[in-house]
Amino acid sequence: MNKLQVLVVEDDAPVRNLITTTLKAHEYKHIVAENGEEAILQASTCNPDVILLDLGLPDMDGVDVIKKIRTWSNLPIIVISARNEDSDKIEALDNGADDFLTKPFSVEELLARLRVTGRRLAMMQAGPEANEAVFTNGNLRVDYAAGCAFIGDEELHLTPNEYKLLCLLSHNVGKVLTHTYITQNIWGSSWDTDVASLRVYMANLRKKLESTPDSPHYIQTHIGVGYRMMKVE
Ligand code: CA
Repeated sequence: MNKLQVLVVEDDAPVRNLITTTLKAHEYKHIVAENGEEAILQASTCNPDVILLDLGLPDMDGVDVIKKIRTWSNLPIIVISARNEDSDKIEALDNGADDFLTKPFSVEELLARLRVTGRRLAMMQAGPEANEAVFTNGNLRVDYAAGCAFIGDEELHLTPNEYKLLCLLSHNVGKVLTHTYITQNIWGSSWDTDVASLRVYMANLRKKLESTPDSPHYIQTHIGVGYRMMKVE
């Protein structure tokens, strides 16, 4: 497997060393940046596959780094931050981060996130997801052209909102989508009542999709933040 090149943006030397040592031990290539300015420069000149980004940087806020990079690039950005409030995660995700890891984090957790990102990139390179007529993930198959979804050979009987939700999640497989992102995409608004409705639709979708809704296989909940469709092996 061709391992990813990771841009590590972290001003705290011990944390940076932990990350780069972990990457080296698992045969990831890496480059480092110690502040936001450097991060933006490296992202534009070194062509990394993924960015691990600290939010508390000496020269600017990590969220501003995300905003800058998003003006020209869709490359995956995984935020690693000590900020633990849901509002911080939501702000980073809504501005274009793909995922969020809270400090202190485990090395295993970091590697798992990188594997998810690697699979997502491989899928994107295999063919732009949004343009494919059929999406498959484990036993799940969504036929966008026909407007229906299956688990194995069995067609799922979904309401229009459940189907829209499934399409949005599948188009963004591997990525955490915030409540606001989802409600804006499905209903064009993000009122609290929509977030409450979203929970209901999600619960119903899961009942139809997951064989064990209590330990979901396809859709992961990020409490207070949003949802992610997992890439199933
Ligand atoms: Ca920092």
